[in-house]
Amino acid sequence: MKKVIVLGGGIAGVEAAISLRKYNFDVELISDRDYLYVYPISIWIPTKEKKFEDVIIPLEDIAKAHKFKFTKASVSTVNKNGFELEDGTKRDDFDYLVIALGQAKKKHKGIENTYSICSKPEETLKYTEKLEEVINKGKGTLCFGFGGNPQAKESVRGGPVFELLFNVDYYLRKKGIRENFELVFFAPMPKPGERLGEKALQLMDKMFKKLNIKKITGKKIKEFVLDGIIFEDDSKQYSDLTCFIAAGDGHPAVKAGDLPQTEAGFIKIDKTNKVEGLENIYAIGDSVALEGPSWKAKQGHLAEVMARNVAFNIALKEGLEKGEPKSYIEHINILCLMDMGNGGGLAYRDDKKAMLIPLPIIGHWMKKGWGIYYKLTKLGKFPKII
Ligand SMILES: Cc1cc2nc3c(=O)[nH]c(=O)nc-3n(C[C@H](O)[C@H](O)[C@H](O)COP(=O)(O)OP(=O)(O)OC[C@H]3O[C@@H](n4cnc5c(N)ncnc54)[C@H](O)[C@@H]3O)c2cc1C
Repeated sequence: MKKVIVLGGGIAGVEAAISLRKYNFDVELISDRDYLYVYPISIWIPTKEKKFEDVIIPLEDIAKAHKFKFTKASVSTVNKNGFELEDGTKRDDFDYLVIALGQAKKKHKGIENTYSICSKPEETLKYTEKLEEVINKGKGTLCFGFGGNPQAKESVRGGPVFELLFNVDYYLRKKGIRENFELVFFAPMPKPGERLGEKALQLMDKMFKKLNIKKITGKKIKEFVLDGIIFEDDSKQYSDLTCFIAAGDGHPAVKAGDLPQTEAGFIKIDKTNKVEGLENIYAIGDSVALEGPSWKAKQGHLAEVMARNVAFNIALKEGLEKGEPKSYIEHINILCLMDMGNGGGLAYRDDKKAMLIPLPIIGHWMKKGWGIYYKLTKLGKFPKII
């Protein structure tokens, strides 16, 4: 049986390993963490609705359920003819390689003065601690923002910032202390979130006004300082605690290697997720350069589609499937249940429509339900519906 190595144990890598096992390939998954971190439900850690243990799934348990091998190791370089681990081990013992290492974050001056909920899980825990400290002081200014990447607009991650902001607002209201805190949203682009469409922007604006959230948009960020944010016009927003999600950047192990990649370090692939010019290396999820419409975004559901397509496409090459190779392009849409703590909104965008449907109360519980469903299906304890 042909051997497939999957690099990265996130949403994309795990789905690829599971899907490849359905064709009986000999699968090894290599990842630097020994758990899958379910980012979409990690937004509730800072407001204590979820504990760290609730948003992880041990990779060893997933490996056991789906009969693949898990190796904990950090990849330092990925090349056309193989990859290297941090300890210097070089590996090319595969028939196919699937790269699912996710993305890094753009660097900003003074970023060490901010916290992120979209990088390493430890960062979210640090933010949670700090948020509690500020709340315990009884008053303060909390800032929430995200940055851009002109070289890869699809790598901008704004959704979780809005979710965290609305959840913190609700958390403070539940405690009866919201009026003691100033909540500020900032982003350098004039219309942050515009890929969700004009109607969604209007709805968000209404929410900001209703919840008394200050908005600073269209001003480039010069630097972050210990007590705030300095903008390009040298104006300063004071902050006791800043959560800032820098836009995505290419993974360092990809940048260090010789795979075809964009200027930003995202892997160039064809529509079947095969790395450009290579026959046996595929790349999926946040680590790739996406083709498609200007509003495209890197999302978990697209990462999963790519993973399943790659399993099919490899099986097709090996004569285990019939038909045409599968493409990810027609699956590009934005589908996001944006949580607000006491409800949510279903954001959807494709070529024909863009909408944000408010889902008071139920939206929150739908996202919670999705989290449970996701964990159970990955552990093989519940059948996958789609
Ligand atoms: C807070 C947050 C909320 C989100 N909410 C949603 C949502 O509601 N809906 C949605 O569709 N999408 C959402 N997303 C986006 C979604 O989570 C990502 O698109 C998805 O996680 C991408 O999967 P991936 O496997 O490519 O990357 P990741 O999930 O980042 O996984 C990368 C994996 O590679 C491993 N790795 C990294 N570097 C190395 C290395 N050097 N060596 C070995 N292993 C390594 C990591 O440990 C990790 O396991 C959210 C993202 C965030 C951050």
